[in-house]
Amino acid sequence: MSNPINGGNGVGQRPVVSQRGAGRKGAPDAAPCAAKTAAGGPGSGPKRPPAPSRPQSPPQAQSRQPKPPAHQHSSALPDSLIEAVRSQARNADLFPLSELRRSGSGFLATCPWHQDRRPSLTVNPERNRVHCFVCNRGADPIAWLEDRQGLSFREAVEELARRYAIALPEQDPEAAARAEAEHQERQRLRHWRSQQQEEFHQALLSDLQASGPAALYLQQRGISPDTAITWRLGLNAQRLMLPIRDGQGRCCGFSGRSLNGEEPKYRNSSADLLFQKSQLLFGLDQAAAAINSTGEALLVEGPLDVIQLHQAGFSNAVAAMGTSLSAEQLQLLQRRGARRLLVVFDGDGAGRSATGKLIAGLRSALIGSGLELAVVELPTGTDPDGLIRSHGPDALRRPIEQARHWLQWELDQLLAPLNADADNLSVLQRCEARARGLLAVLPPGALRERAERRLQEALGLVPQLHHGVQPHRAKRPGLGRPQAQQPQASPAASPPPAHRDAAQIERAEYRALRLFLCSPVCRDPLAVLVVRNDLYRRAQQCLVQVHQRITGPIASAQEDPLPRSVLAICPQLEPHLGQLLERLCSLDLGVRDTLFRQPEGEMMAILDVLEPVVV
Ligand SMILES: [Zn+2]
Repeated sequence: MSNPINGGNGVGQRPVVSQRGAGRKGAPDAAPCAAKTAAGGPGSGPKRPPAPSRPQSPPQAQSRQPKPPAHQHSSALPDSLIEAVRSQARNADLFPLSELRRSGSGFLATCPWHQDRRPSLTVNPERNRVHCFVCNRGADPIAWLEDRQGLSFREAVEELARRYAIALPEQDPEAAARAEAEHQERQRLRHWRSQQQEEFHQALLSDLQASGPAALYLQQRGISPDTAITWRLGLNAQRLMLPIRDGQGRCCGFSGRSLNGEEPKYRNSSADLLFQKSQLLFGLDQAAAAINSTGEALLVEGPLDVIQLHQAGFSNAVAAMGTSLSAEQLQLLQRRGARRLLVVFDGDGAGRSATGKLIAGLRSALIGSGLELAVVELPTGTDPDGLIRSHGPDALRRPIEQARHWLQWELDQLLAPLNADADNLSVLQRCEARARGLLAVLPPGALRERAERRLQEALGLVPQLHHGVQPHRAKRPGLGRPQAQQPQASPAASPPPAHRDAAQIERAEYRALRLFLCSPVCRDPLAVLVVRNDLYRRAQQCLVQVHQRITGPIASAQEDPLPRSVLAICPQLEPHLGQLLERLCSLDLGVRDTLFRQPEGEMMAILDVLEPVVV
């Protein structure tokens, strides 16, 4: 099998794009040509450096900054190219011969889309399509490559163009030359990395036999020798080498875990044309089948977690290199058939914060992507592997079943501090600010409406949360600042009082008492609110009585005589009431000052929940 694109001398000058590829028509080999032949002639392969200290770095490529291949970023593919690919690429060529069985004028193959017991996929040369008569799915050559290799439409077209020696669109010769050079460079790197993968793997096998440091480490992590072999783990320079492969199983780089305490603990290959962290997912090649059949992918924190989960039967686990996920990585998963991505990070503060950052970075990509992201929350202090090892796989299945939609999870996180400390005004204000931030990024629609309602109910909340929300305040007692007239909000935006739960009303009542103490201008309207909670109502009456004895202007929170006067009578009150009022009067002066100067927001939030007495 000779193919000129593989025989070249590394990054050569071969600007003539139309010479790409040899005539592969009819060659029934799906392997993307490169690796096997690249080592061919003398001098054609990369020279191996002697005992490299960073073995991940290939020769000649260390200082090279990755550049996007020119043709991949140019505008849309010309129709003529797509047509040429459609007419020349043959579906039967995309299968290894061994997988095809003659049937009439065509072939039969095993269908990858359902659990196929006997070959049900018809490969029809006349229609140039494959079609499964059991699950009724089909594909032309481009769609087949997209589906099977996880390529984008553009990548699939370009890959087929390359295989069938169809000229890619001629840009200026310089761009074409660069694209060609980059293609060559990628092939060279691929070949180099696959050699390294084998070398490191052989070293690991020897270590396993000799019960060396890598064997010991794997044993500690509960990774069996069989698993190490399946994943082609390696050993090099006191590091456990974890090969990072693309969706098609080609090694693109390594993550090296230190075995002798050397820092950093993990060291990744440096970025080059092949190794782009944001475009790779560790484990995707091994997880692709499970993701395709279940529609779900598990995202865990690190490569070793992935391996451990696969070993425990969670064969749809993948990891990003780092804790953020790019839009490209989401697409990689979607192309493999993922409809739901379950994020499983450690059950601690760091895990939660990483999850929060991950979601924040993905919100806009998630909205409208058709991919649902859900958060799996592990018991505090556990990680996926520890959980499985101490309690068995079911201990992880349970939290997976209870995964929450990312927006639900974000809202829960956002409101958690409030549940813990409902009296703290600065906590409340922080929650409100974050709520506004979250709503601002959600486009109008059901998701946003649900978030608004949830926040409104929990916080009490926030007028002008967005312009559509105009809470009912028809009977609002005068606060001297009439709300701008706006059309009535949809009923969904502001739930009627009947829907408010007791806890929400009680919280608003407490906030009313607090505001009464802090804001002289709000005292008259607050005095006529209906307060249902018995203790709070007595506190209200008490405050009103003390307030009525106070006269004269009050210039600042510090000068406000009310808290002092209330504190003075607390000892004579019945204990619960006295304690409540004491607590209210000992509010932090900063909080009191804020409410003294800017009571409107708080007042409106209270009036959204509570009604004044109708005389
Ligand atoms: Zn099928």
